[in-house]
Amino acid sequence: MDNKIVKAVFPGSFDPITNGHLDVIKRGAKLFDEVIVAVGRSPIKNPFFTPEERVEMIKKVVADIPRVTVESYDGLTVEYAAKIKANVMLRGLRNLTDVQYEFQLAMTNRAVAGIETVFIMTSEEYGFVSSTMIREVAVLGGDVSKLIPAEVYEKLKEVLKNRPKDINCSY
Ligand code: ADP
Repeated sequence: MDNKIVKAVFPGSFDPITNGHLDVIKRGAKLFDEVIVAVGRSPIKNPFFTPEERVEMIKKVVADIPRVTVESYDGLTVEYAAKIKANVMLRGLRNLTDVQYEFQLAMTNRAVAGIETVFIMTSEEYGFVSSTMIREVAVLGGDVSKLIPAEVYEKLKEVLKNRPKDINCSY
């Protein structure tokens, strides 16, 4: 068997990184030679954190995981993957809705760039956790401390201080 280095890129918005993402990163780090967590810089709807803040937070929470690095990127994910010579796309799956979307994305990425996608199934305890849900609950004053890393929770509290706690507020 040839001893090919497998460099996996884990792309996403990570607004913010959750314990679900972190679990995928930790498990991916056991499977691959390198994992690059890649924060997409393309605009998302009502972001909570800037790409720089997201990168900074992720760097803190993955600092102790060997072979994991964090970057941000512009434009097409497959072009970025080619640029950094990643040979696998890493994605997480939580439910059938994810499967439907991710299946199409993986097929498209393989068709346009010939890159394979490897999926890691969520851990049961994080199957319901999404960044969107974290933002929605947090903005209405809910306690999300068990669902995101402690450093991220601290940063989230700071951001929330400057935002109105209002049901009509679309974060
Ligand atoms: P995107 O904006 O591209 O959906 P996200 O930041 O939401 O990116 O997620 C990046 C990847 O992490 C996606 O593959 C998503 O399915 C996966 N993911 C998100 N939350 C979880 C979770 N709780 N468990 C497993 N995978 C997850």
